[in-house]
Amino acid sequence: MKENQKVERTFQKVCEKYDIENRAFTKEDFYRICESENITAKEMDSPTSFYLRVKSKLFIVVEEKLEREKKIFAMMHELGHHFLEHRGHKMQNAFYFDSRDKENEAEADGFALLATGLKQEAR
Ligand SMILES: [Zn+2]
Repeated sequence: MKENQKVERTFQKVCEKYDIENRAFTKEDFYRICESENITAKEMDSPTSFYLRVKSKLFIVVEEKLEREKKIFAMMHELGHHFLEHRGHKMQNAFYFDSRDKENEAEADGFALLATGLKQEAR
């Protein structure tokens, strides 16, 4: 399917750019990638995790209380929105993402599945 190809191609590019090969992404990778992409990333006492764009500034907030594996999945899901170039919903000067946008959510989940190693790449 086209959507899967988009997700897999994007994932491959990220792996190459950040020199990650045949292993799951870690929390350290997440912060390293965010720094390089100019994304301000924080774990916070938030009811949810999200990716937010305000003008040209990028933010990822990750729900602090998530258990380790769920947290990495959430981190990669939000990075998925970034790399898949999702635009999100406009709200004043900000763009935000939520579960109303089913297609984008499925793509971001697909990216996170690949990044966390929960889904083997189709090769
Ligand atoms: Zn999302």
